[in-house]
Amino acid sequence: MMKQKEYKFWFCTGSQDLYGEECLEHVAEHAKIMVAELNKSGVLPYEVIWKPTLITNELIRRTFNEANTNPECAGIITWMHTFSPAKSWILGLKEFRKPLLHLHTQFNMEIPYDTMDMDFMNENQSAHGDREFGHMVTRMGIERKVVVGHWSDKEVQKDIASWMRTAIGIVESSHIRVMRVADNMRNVAVTEGDKVEAQIKFGWEVDAYPVNEIVKAVDAVGKSDVNALVDEYYEKYNILLEGRDPKEFRDHVAVQAQIELGFERFLEEKNYQAIVTHFDDLGGLKQLPGLAIQRLMEKGYGFGAEGDWKVAAMVRLMKVMTQGMKEAKGTSMMEDYTYNLVPGKEGILEAHMLEICPTVADGMVSIKEQPLSMGNREDPARLVFTAKEGKGIATSLIDLGDRFRLIINDVDCRHTEKPMPKLPVATAFWTPQPNLRTGAEAWILAGGAHHTAFTYDLTAEQMGDWAAAMGIEAVYIDKDTTIRNFKRELMLGDIVYKEK
Ligand code: MN
Repeated sequence: MMKQKEYKFWFCTGSQDLYGEECLEHVAEHAKIMVAELNKSGVLPYEVIWKPTLITNELIRRTFNEANTNPECAGIITWMHTFSPAKSWILGLKEFRKPLLHLHTQFNMEIPYDTMDMDFMNENQSAHGDREFGHMVTRMGIERKVVVGHWSDKEVQKDIASWMRTAIGIVESSHIRVMRVADNMRNVAVTEGDKVEAQIKFGWEVDAYPVNEIVKAVDAVGKSDVNALVDEYYEKYNILLEGRDPKEFRDHVAVQAQIELGFERFLEEKNYQAIVTHFDDLGGLKQLPGLAIQRLMEKGYGFGAEGDWKVAAMVRLMKVMTQGMKEAKGTSMMEDYTYNLVPGKEGILEAHMLEICPTVADGMVSIKEQPLSMGNREDPARLVFTAKEGKGIATSLIDLGDRFRLIINDVDCRHTEKPMPKLPVATAFWTPQPNLRTGAEAWILAGGAHHTAFTYDLTAEQMGDWAAAMGIEAVYIDKDTTIRNFKRELMLGDIVYKEK
């Protein structure tokens, strides 16, 4: 697994000195209790850190700037315990560059009917103070998440947890570096895009290397390292010899092991977290990287095929956002291949030549070797499996020439009706929401590509919030989609985002 950063979120409580020392002591005490309980809840994927109550312009500005430069801090959670005049927040907010969650909560859950007096009212007025704060964030046009409800409510905690993963995506996006091995596939449109604009918008660095430079790194991997990894494969995966010579089979698997190690060392040495390959430009590689790429994706690297650097970066982004998630079901590049159009059983068969990530596998993963109908290399070893059932999201980031658009489709994954014994690749099968006919029509109208970054473990809301933070258009295809409304959304996007 790739290294995971120990990110933290700062909890900043707003107040003012109008209500006296005793009140401010209570404010701090309450916020500390809330932070401790949130951390104890077991729901949040990252730790929350209590910060001293923010009561002056100067302190707010200093705290926000410290958050900007603190490499551990992935964002700030604000909450106004009392009234906190919003003009005090202007400079801090203006200079703040990290994700912001406005937690609209209050310390007590119930109105204390029997003891309620004006002291209590002055001390506990989030309904009042949070509106003042929210007004300013809106007026300043700052992107933020608002979560409403009592802080002990599991649903509220889950919303905070979900936003934390979005925030990680926002701060980690600018640490994604994609290595392109060779160029994009000739004549293909959707794998192309403006790399300079992608770096401006998302912070991604996308660099090309001649294929034979990475081949050198593969050739440099020693025999004993390769053998040890092949032994690991043979222990971990089911071997589908299917009549092939066992020695020849193992030799072909060893080629992939050597590619995995060589690629991984090259990526690590040069600090890349995602990679693209191209089946038509393999230089001195003996096989198209199949099993090797599948293993790298499993370790957390992003991948896109045929030079598709946007998908590679998106897969890496989703892997970062879902890191450390309990009971994660997986994240992978996918490709829309072929349909089942039988009424009541409609769906899209998802696969690729080889490179689907085994994190999405349902049960057994096997190694298979088979000739590739494209290219002129030896039969590549690949991992084969079928994907899990359940809800997921398929995303496609496209370059429309004047802007990027992220298309997000809720999909329902199922097992295919029957096995496909002659298909030598890993597969998934899903029905797009709201159904295949409307879902695919909307996808095509939006300009969605055939390669997608897919995950079971994030929601459309999380990816849409990420897109909003990046300042790009996001469109959703889900259970509520109708073509008439969807076309209006696309028209609206044309107006809003064209000049951005
Ligand atoms: Mn492809």
